[in-house]
Amino acid sequence: MTNSRTFDCDLCGSANYTVLEVARKYIGDNEPPVVCGNCGFVFVRTRRPAKEIAEDWNNIFGEGYTSEWPGVKARLFYVAEFFDQNYGWKGKKVLDIGAGEGTFLKFIQQRGAWISGLEPSLENCTKIEGLGVRAYWQTIEDPVPDEKFDVVTILWTLENCQDCMRMLRFARECLKPDGQLVVATGSRILVPFKKPLQDYLSGNPADTHCFRFSRNSLAHALNRCGFQWIYQNDWYQSDVLLLVAESIDVKDRLFIADKPIDVANFFNSWDREFP
Ligand SMILES: [Zn+2]
Repeated sequence: MTNSRTFDCDLCGSANYTVLEVARKYIGDNEPPVVCGNCGFVFVRTRRPAKEIAEDWNNIFGEGYTSEWPGVKARLFYVAEFFDQNYGWKGKKVLDIGAGEGTFLKFIQQRGAWISGLEPSLENCTKIEGLGVRAYWQTIEDPVPDEKFDVVTILWTLENCQDCMRMLRFARECLKPDGQLVVATGSRILVPFKKPLQDYLSGNPADTHCFRFSRNSLAHALNRCGFQWIYQNDWYQSDVLLLVAESIDVKDRLFIADKPIDVANFFNSWDREFP
């Protein structure tokens, strides 16, 4: 992978890490993730340019993945309902980063939101435009949209991009000053095992799934990018880790770490108990 770059910890910048050896038997010839020796964040060090990773995801979509699958549709519905019950979508101007086929946008459009989607796939953008709304055909490496939003959503996307911090900072720039960010991921760790480890990890190129978030590391990432989480779901027992966040002053930075040994032990137990 000639164009690839090597990354230190995205969250704390430490170059100190331990390779997650236990992953090797599940991921073919791919590079295993590492655990940051300072903050416990789990990430893949070697990554191709963002556009190449996005292109891979387009191909994965092309191979039959669809957000119409009951499980995928259900988790997006869960986010739509969760936010609706706690904050409400009605009248809000919303941008979904990594909007896919627009399934989530459709849910919240029906609840009165004014929606836009940002998507690297042209085919998906066409589907989003089919909802009668604006689709930004781009990635987060391109300039931010020329409008500001009440809510930005990043759903099952942050773990799959090349630079999670850049994505969060991009989201912050898209928001109105009092706007809210919603991040949801299924790649949660330090929780009960939701599926066999062989299904959690995969033989896809390692950098299509660069990050594995715990509740702490997601809160840490948000904080480093100028957000404070204000609401969370019942992430310990749900399959979804969902945080709602608002912009804060940079001076309020926190260090919300996991112990690296706890993270390594978590994956070792998973391998023993639910391979
Ligand atoms: Zn770190």
